[in-house]
Amino acid sequence: TRSAALAEATGPGRTKDGHSVPLLANIGGPKDVPAAVENGAEGVGLYRTEFLFLDRATPPTDAEQERAYREVLEAFPNGRVVVRALDAGADKPLAFLPPPGEEPNPALGERGLRMLRRHEDVLTAQLSALARAASGLTTKLQVMAPMVTDAEEAAYFAAACRAAGIEHPGVMIEVPAAALRATDLASEVKFFSLGTNDLTQYTCAADRQIGGLAHLQDAWQPAVLDLVASAACAGIPCGVCGEAANDPALACVLVGLGVTSLSMSAPSLPLVRAALARHTLDECRAAASAARAARSAEAAKASARQALPALA
Ligand code: PEP
Ligand code: MG
Repeated sequence: TRSAALAEATGPGRTKDGHSVPLLANIGGPKDVPAAVENGAEGVGLYRTEFLFLDRATPPTDAEQERAYREVLEAFPNGRVVVRALDAGADKPLAFLPPPGEEPNPALGERGLRMLRRHEDVLTAQLSALARAASGLTTKLQVMAPMVTDAEEAAYFAAACRAAGIEHPGVMIEVPAAALRATDLASEVKFFSLGTNDLTQYTCAADRQIGGLAHLQDAWQPAVLDLVASAACAGIPCGVCGEAANDPALACVLVGLGVTSLSMSAPSLPLVRAALARHTLDECRAAASAARAARSAEAAKASARQALPALA
């Protein structure tokens, strides 16, 4: 089906009736750009910058950062690149940024934006390097904060971005509180990106690092879909950059819930592009309603698939 999908749908992501859904790639650095381009990514929807910071005793220099960001930005002169500010802590510990004390539950501890606020110099250096990297380029740079909980945190991050000369600040929606109060956060930033991996972990209280809880670590859980809908109708663009966007059926459901772009690992792009091209926006909406009406992840998946007759 993969080569058939490749042949069938090319170009920008859109539904059968022409509703545009930009399809973007998740990357960890410049080395991931070729695969993104080969699979027709219209830009980058999640640049996980922590790979630049991992496995070293000191943070990368300003020049190192600027180079790594510019290389990616230059690859998409007509597109956007969404860079995530350093997401350290919990499942991504960094040697030079230890937590302030013992953390019995690191996933509920100082991670993401919480960590950056205590190390404001790290945040400021990163934002400045990003602004310098983007200067003079036509690529649209968007920068987002990980692990944001409320509107005050969103406002803090937006102010830090503007101080660095970054015009398109956004936040990831991966904490249920942020999804529930999405309209409050939407008044502070320009866009949302749903991190469905963490959003599912926190909604279902199921540690994403424990394999035995995989049945609860499932974005088809109707409660997760409810939170996606809450974020997607807050009035600002709302993408998805979690694993959920790799599943062609779920991608259609996300679009039906109001999600405006999808970012995924590069090899998933052709199949998701083909699934969208085979269904109208109304069919995606019907699938989304059917999934939300279900009472389990399994039932949500089954009824959505029934509402999407042209899935490969
Ligand atoms: C997510 O949580 O869905 C996400 C995209 O971020 P990460 O997997 O890097 O935590
Ligand atoms: Mg996350």
